Amino acid sequence: MPSKIYPHPEERPEGASRRTRDVDAAPAFDAVIVGAGFAGMYMLHRLRGMGFSVRVYEAGSGVGGTWYWNRYPGARCDVESMQYSYQFSDGLQQEWVWSERYSPQPEILRYANHVADRFDLRRDIQFDTRVHAAVFDEAANRWMLEIGDRERVSATHCIMATGCLSSANMPKIAGIGSFRGATYHTGHWPHEGVDFQGKRVGIIGTGSSAIQSIPLIAEEAAQLCVFQRTPNYAIPAHNQRLAPEYQEAVKADYAGLRARAKATIPGLDFNFNMASAVEASEAERQREFEARWAYGGLPFLGVFGDLLLDPAANDLAAEFVRGKIRDIVHDPDTAEMLSPRNVFGCKRLCVDTGYWATFNRPNVTLIDVSGEPVEAITPAGIRAKGREYAVDAIVFATGFDAMTGALLKIDISGVGGRRLNEKWREGPKTYLGLGIAGFPNLFTITGPGSPSVLTNMLPSIEQHVEWIADCIAYLRDNGLSRIEAEAGAEESWVAHVRDVAGLTLRSTCSSWYVGANVPGKPRVFMPYIGGFPAYAQKCDAVAANRYEGFTTA
Ligand code: NAP
Repeated sequence: MPSKIYPHPEERPEGASRRTRDVDAAPAFDAVIVGAGFAGMYMLHRLRGMGFSVRVYEAGSGVGGTWYWNRYPGARCDVESMQYSYQFSDGLQQEWVWSERYSPQPEILRYANHVADRFDLRRDIQFDTRVHAAVFDEAANRWMLEIGDRERVSATHCIMATGCLSSANMPKIAGIGSFRGATYHTGHWPHEGVDFQGKRVGIIGTGSSAIQSIPLIAEEAAQLCVFQRTPNYAIPAHNQRLAPEYQEAVKADYAGLRARAKATIPGLDFNFNMASAVEASEAERQREFEARWAYGGLPFLGVFGDLLLDPAANDLAAEFVRGKIRDIVHDPDTAEMLSPRNVFGCKRLCVDTGYWATFNRPNVTLIDVSGEPVEAITPAGIRAKGREYAVDAIVFATGFDAMTGALLKIDISGVGGRRLNEKWREGPKTYLGLGIAGFPNLFTITGPGSPSVLTNMLPSIEQHVEWIADCIAYLRDNGLSRIEAEAGAEESWVAHVRDVAGLTLRSTCSSWYVGANVPGKPRVFMPYIGGFPAYAQKCDAVAANRYEGFTTA
């Protein structure tokens, strides 16, 4: 008599065990990869090229991960196109032509599909298939996965390519089910698009997704009410068509650009000014700030070396941006409401096109819900500050249960039946963001404890994929079937991640980096802030020392 299957972690009572006995009957692979975004696709390509049997399971109907789901108006990357791309294949990077400085979502999705076709990836990807559970079978040293409609598969290695920002965060606002109009989450946008023409729209949230979508929704809708809990800093994108000569110049020395990028903390090729903002003269400071504002985008973070270390330097940058907001937004009260007071660059810096100016439009209203939360969703709209705002549609631009959300949606049980959500009750613990003590043969691509979201994701994904593939090949070549992070190595790494985070101002505010956006989530700075070069060196040293900090058998 088979035991009951509990597809979701919260349904399985404490102590109830999962079936693992039918390991032999299930399709068996060397590796199973969860997710067919940029991480899962490259992992498949790499492992298959080494002769391993691999299967990818993907909940969506196509490749692309975050770029498959995030189809809201204005969605585009905030890393420049020439850098937000794979570098593992020079043929690919030479042949692909980007059309804009910052790629729009449809173009990035086309690129993902092109990669899938070019490397014939689809034959090993099963779409429309969610992974519900993964259980480690200690006797067999294999992972047993429960997928799709209660099917089972097994694999020696289980690789989580589930993405850092893929589990949508829907706020629990009273009355949410009573709304008569349409509701959308930016991270799960309808594929057919949404027509806001003539509609009254309410949008909750003012993070990157909102800052990109608000100007376009405002152009289309009859009225737009923006419910803002925390104002954010945004630097203009100055997006433009990419000149063919510029692309040719980059491609003539793509290896040079990639190498320069890998030598920087965020893995991005842009100039860092190491001078101190505090020590610079007023005129120098303004020149630097203006130059970065005119250049646009995330390179603003490189304006001065002490920006994220010294509160006084940070205040200077913050005040510069607040000055820009006051210049652009006509109504002083609205400008004041839009002006962030928190640490500049502490929450993820936003990159915008026409965001501040949108608040000069007569059809846009800003509602400050910082002091008093949105009270309720009613059948006709949104109630806040004692008043009902009647709307036909609500957009939740409320972000993600970042870095751990997608992993913990899967019921993962390791050695002794210990579940990952128990182990991570007080925050994620990993060794290098790659392995987890008590969970042998399980790898996380850009997991918590790795630079991931603080870096250009594509090179960070490639670095992880290559490290994992080399590790699995090492095990095979040495007749080993099991690898597990040691508890001591993990503890030291977690402490190091925490200590380094404490050195910068970035860990000081209520951001999704610390899980503050999800009620009840433990407050831990999740990514590794020590930078791409130091981190990659550490990973290389671990591998060179026969996977130091891991136990193999
Ligand atoms: P986000 O940055 O977490 O922003 C969510 C917004 O919703 C915040 O303004 C938040 O306010 C607000 N919010 C959440 N719950 C709320 C509630 N109950 N009531 C009122 N407001 C609420 O999410 P996101 O904009 O989707 O961006 C997430 C990350 O994805 C970005 O930081 C970036 O890394 C990435 N992203 C990148 C791009 C790009 O490449 N350009 C675009 C989109 C997203 P609080 O700040 O007060 O929590």
